[in-house]
Amino acid sequence: MRNFSKSRRVVIKIGTSTLSTNDGVNPAYFVTLAEQVAALRESGRQVVIVTSGAIGMGAKRLKLAGPVVDMKLRQACAAIGQPLLMHEYYKAFGECGLIVSQVLLTAEVLSKRKTYLNLQNAVETLLRLGVVPVVNENDCVSTAEIGTAFGDNDKLSALVASKIDADLLIMLTDIDALYDKDPRQYPNAKPIRVVEDITADIEKAAGKKGSLHSTGGMKSKLAAAQIAATAGCRIVLAHGQEPDIITRIMAGETVGTLFMPKGKLSNRNRWILNSKPEGTVRVDAGALEALRKRKSLLPKGITGIEGHFEVGAVVMINDAAKAVVSLSADELRELAGRHSAEIRDRLGQDRRDVAALPEDIVFLTP
Ligand code: GLU
Repeated sequence: MRNFSKSRRVVIKIGTSTLSTNDGVNPAYFVTLAEQVAALRESGRQVVIVTSGAIGMGAKRLKLAGPVVDMKLRQACAAIGQPLLMHEYYKAFGECGLIVSQVLLTAEVLSKRKTYLNLQNAVETLLRLGVVPVVNENDCVSTAEIGTAFGDNDKLSALVASKIDADLLIMLTDIDALYDKDPRQYPNAKPIRVVEDITADIEKAAGKKGSLHSTGGMKSKLAAAQIAATAGCRIVLAHGQEPDIITRIMAGETVGTLFMPKGKLSNRNRWILNSKPEGTVRVDAGALEALRKRKSLLPKGITGIEGHFEVGAVVMINDAAKAVVSLSADELRELAGRHSAEIRDRLGQDRRDVAALPEDIVFLTP
């Protein structure tokens, strides 16, 4: 039996297909959603919603047929659809006595420590006021072309759950569980009720991107589950159209697929791990081994620098780790390969020579 009685902070991610029918947005859905969220609020839980649907609603309003692929048109559709989407939340949640708020994010906002902390303050304040934050990507200004997009709301929901230390992330989609093989191809496919670890076999079962209908597909759901799991957050993936699905999940019913959390990383380490790297620092094998033993990154072991970044940026260390650098790309280019003694002899005793401190380095795999 699953037990979520102690989960105080819950993020609910809702996909476009869940919110709408073929004829457009489904107002009845917002009503049942609002009723279930109101019940959660009454039981003392804080709820954050991550919603999709802005682009779809904008496209419907413009009477566009078929999926919108042109980037500029997607931006325009998002700008049209987002207020329509919020209007549905405002109406349905208002009927249940709940206040909703709109929070639009870009990957850049979450990657920069200052803006991320700023966002955290705003969300914490909204939650303290008993308001339900409704989060979406700011699709009008953040696009894959300029490299600021999350890509999909699965990832966004996991990052939000991680950043606000949620105990549970409920991902509502158009499939009722993760299966051991593609259920559309294999009638004997079996649902997997609990995933302890996202292994290669589980990834294989999920298939390719988009192979299971929903926007990002099961693959992006697994990537999202990985992010949330390292934040100590449990994830339940379930069919959004099943009656009272949120209430049933919270009551511990065995529906959907439950992904178990992993050892919880600190908030700062999670921020480093989930930030978009601004460049790469290449190091030799000896230096990488030293970093694994929690030593500082010194210029001596650096073999190359890729990209332009300033002090405080998050960068990749080879393909193995992410780190916050204490020196800029230009400084590192000047110092790469030199011994600390040589650096001090040539550049002065007070010259800093640590490229990254151990507490600022996080390996992608333990
Ligand atoms: N942010 C997009 C929208 O509101 C949806 C992205 C997704 O479905 O993953 O339309």
